[in-house]
Amino acid sequence: MKRLADYDVDKLTVATVASHTALQLLRAAKKTGFKTAAIYLTDNKTFYQKFGFIDKIFTASVDTLDKLAPYLAERNTIFIPHGSFVEYCGPEKAQSFQVPFFGTRQLIEVEADQRKKMTLLREAEIPTPAEYGSVEEAEPPVIVKLGGAKGGAGYFLAFSKQELLEKTQKISQSYIIQQYVIGVGVYMHYFASPMYGRVEVFGADTRYEANVDGRVFGLAEPSFVVVGNRPLVVRESLLPRYMLYGEKFAAAVEKTLGTPMIGPFCLETIITDTLEIKCFEFSGRIVAGTNVYMGTGSPYSVLYFDKAIDMGERIAHELKNAAEKNCLEKVTS
Ligand code: AMP
Repeated sequence: MKRLADYDVDKLTVATVASHTALQLLRAAKKTGFKTAAIYLTDNKTFYQKFGFIDKIFTASVDTLDKLAPYLAERNTIFIPHGSFVEYCGPEKAQSFQVPFFGTRQLIEVEADQRKKMTLLREAEIPTPAEYGSVEEAEPPVIVKLGGAKGGAGYFLAFSKQELLEKTQKISQSYIIQQYVIGVGVYMHYFASPMYGRVEVFGADTRYEANVDGRVFGLAEPSFVVVGNRPLVVRESLLPRYMLYGEKFAAAVEKTLGTPMIGPFCLETIITDTLEIKCFEFSGRIVAGTNVYMGTGSPYSVLYFDKAIDMGERIAHELKNAAEKNCLEKVTS
């Protein structure tokens, strides 16, 4: 199979799975001069076919995806992983997909494991919610997260030890018990740039979740199912701390995985009414919340480029820069 070192850097294709942030990513890639490809793993084909900025369409199933790799490599393809790709394929299969990834491939397995994920955040010395080793130790309110739970589904809250005991007795898989932090959710987007040698604080969103943000009126348990995202800017006085946490995160990735943080990532936080920032999760790749500024650009991108660009455009810019300098290995894994 064709390797990255043999790629024709003037004829790169940018590919991703048709879901999540595919429109943002492929629109920007096309605009920047790359060929583009969408891979269908679900039956959304007719929707994505409507957009002229997608040059090539591949259809695969999770089981046949690996067979696509040689075709993609032949087309000098850089693949951009996102949350839906990992969700459809499962972390193991996603991480081993043999096409060069824009980003840090090794983070997929860390992100998939609640314990490894929280350990990395603590290694980075980013404040996290308290974690309790047992029901006895727990100080409710707490949130219980089952291993492998996605997008909030499979989480539950307990407001007393009794409730926690009753609910945890019913589960057989592994779980963690975390302090339920009271405050507002802030999802801070970053871009780690090997080409500029810096971490950029890029934008933010907050989520629109059922049954938390809707007209619940106490009629339903919170379910945290993500329905959409809303744009957000934080108080400017919070930005230096967010900047620091982003830099600490990238440094911890490099230290613990022995490989640099490349490209977009997100720190998922709750800010309390005393303005403490607690990070309960990270995404080591592009998050869907960046779609809130697709085409219009993020508010903070102007601080670096003096024009507003979205995350898809930021990625395409980095990739173009690396291709022109013949150092694609710096932005891929
Ligand atoms: P996640 O799937 O990890 O992004 O979490 C889903 C939702 O659960 C988040 O959007 C938060 O609203 C909420 N959440 C997760 N962990 C905590 C926590 N420790 N304290 C408060 N809310 C949390």
